[in-house]
Amino acid sequence: MPDRIQLLPENIANQIAAGEVIQRPASAVKELLENAVDAGATAIKLIVNDAGKSLIQVIDDGNGMSETDARMSFERHATSKINTIDDLFRIRTMGFRGEALASIAAVAQVELRTRREEDQLGTSIEIENSLVLRQEPVAAPVGTNISMKNVFFNVPARRNFLKSNAAEMRHIIDEFLRVSMAFPNIFFSLTANGQELFHLEKGSLKQRIVQLLGVTYNSKLVSVLENTDYLNIYGFIGKPEAAKRTRGDQYFFVNNRFIRSAYLNHAVVGAYQEMIPSDSFPFYVLFIDLDPAQIDINVHPTKQEIKFEDEKIVYAFVQAAVKHALAQFSITPTLDFDLDPSIQQLDAVSKPFTEEKRASAAGSSLYHTFSQKNQAHIIENKSELKNWRDFYEKTGDQELKNKNSPEEDPETAREGLMIKPAQRLSLIEDLEPLQIHNQFIIAATNAGFIVIHQQLAHERVLYEKFESASRGKPMVTQKSLFPTSLELAPSDSVLLEELLPELHQLGYQVETFGKNSFVIQGTPADVETGNEKLAIEQMLEQYKHFTSEMKFSKREKLLRSLAWQQAIKTGKNLAPTEMKRLLRELFACLQPNISPSGQPTYIEFKTEYLAKIFGK
Ligand code: ADP
Ligand code: MG
Repeated sequence: MPDRIQLLPENIANQIAAGEVIQRPASAVKELLENAVDAGATAIKLIVNDAGKSLIQVIDDGNGMSETDARMSFERHATSKINTIDDLFRIRTMGFRGEALASIAAVAQVELRTRREEDQLGTSIEIENSLVLRQEPVAAPVGTNISMKNVFFNVPARRNFLKSNAAEMRHIIDEFLRVSMAFPNIFFSLTANGQELFHLEKGSLKQRIVQLLGVTYNSKLVSVLENTDYLNIYGFIGKPEAAKRTRGDQYFFVNNRFIRSAYLNHAVVGAYQEMIPSDSFPFYVLFIDLDPAQIDINVHPTKQEIKFEDEKIVYAFVQAAVKHALAQFSITPTLDFDLDPSIQQLDAVSKPFTEEKRASAAGSSLYHTFSQKNQAHIIENKSELKNWRDFYEKTGDQELKNKNSPEEDPETAREGLMIKPAQRLSLIEDLEPLQIHNQFIIAATNAGFIVIHQQLAHERVLYEKFESASRGKPMVTQKSLFPTSLELAPSDSVLLEELLPELHQLGYQVETFGKNSFVIQGTPADVETGNEKLAIEQMLEQYKHFTSEMKFSKREKLLRSLAWQQAIKTGKNLAPTEMKRLLRELFACLQPNISPSGQPTYIEFKTEYLAKIFGK
């Protein structure tokens, strides 16, 4: 019997590989754009006709190729980007497998023109079905101009599988968005059937996002920027009110490569908890840069999924960075950095990732990281990394389970990675706080001063108090000397009856007392209720108000209602001791800067910003 197994002819092997790499016109668009980026281009033009089915052309002004390289580039596994196995752990380029051009040449009619700066003449190559038809010197500008015609002309089954032009074009635009978003310092354009759809001048990341997604995003972006020795995170997230009911504008880039990750998406969404309805999707464009040795990008044919060496750490960092950004945005709403270009350059607003930062990220090692300086606000634990990781081993999973109600013990959480913007605010205790208009409190900090909204701040304090009481130790009750009775409408009394067990936990001793009536025996000890009867009635009103917002659980509504009801109101004059107590309690909170319903509780005015405003 003769052997049956044979080596496939190379062009067939390439078509199989093409099946992985080139699934549709958009895959070729991605590969060609990435090649142009890798070639160091500063301007990249994409031209497509018939949704890429008849033509995909990418023109760049990058390095170009020598005559030999131009020919070599179409060989399988021919790449200039890696030499040794070790290089696989140092990948900083978009491509590295040397398959794309081979795959493209296997399924289309390709023409390449390329020239390096040092060469007088460039090279032109025509290749089709993996066969070189022509190669000759040509006059050409520096850079590369590659066109791919009639994709799958030789693989009818695949060609027939292509979707409508509209659908294929959407895929192309998606890929174009992902690459151009990651490189705002490169000019990109997209022309389809002779019409220029995108013309993206170089600029900041923020400008690029707005160019790509629309000006409505301009006022909805919050900048994220956290640099640590292990990884850097930067980019923009949408303000809570910009969250949408439909998925769509969520972008993660790891070392500038767009990736999909349900896991990291979960980290971001978790950071928004209580700020957006649970069925909505926040906007984000987040760049995670870390040592390439910490990731494996070779787990997916189109490299859209990657494996992190330690994904729990990345999860924790991403969530912390987003929480921090949200917190920052809530405390500085009046300092609009867009107002003044000199301020705009200062901070917060887009900062494209620099080579320097990239180098420092690459140079760092995981094992002497977390106790370092410029991350004091993120990581407070000075103990060994191992403990820190142990902590996340434990809570990372748990947090996943409890997306909407983190159950971790606040004390434990404080020891680990926890965003505590308040920690960065150190109040100058010697200076007396000042109340103005019976509404705001002004207090000095090391870095400037803060203006606190007394009612919102107190709501936060009470909310956290109730929140921990509802989960653990009940609040202490103060027995009323004279129990008060309470008559309610039938629907309200049904409601109150439902809430009684929770109310007990929160220090309210309320008992049913016949039909539609109740008796209030006691109230939480350290909460001044004044009029218990009114308090319960108001709380019920507020509860019903929250009921119209379906997103909250019963417990959540009750906590918020009570916090709202009992909070010190605007208009109340406060004694210095009361102010100090409020400040102390506020900054002992886990989330001191946001009221339970998402408003800022205080605004920080930093002297450096103020000085800038005064031109000093
Ligand atoms: P990879 O990008 O994985 O290396 P490709 O098949 O996409 O593999 O490209 C093969 C090689 O051809 C690249 O490594 C690069 O040296 C060269 N090349 C491809 N496109 C360009 C371009 N636009 N400009 C300069 N060189 C290019
Ligand atoms: Mg490539």
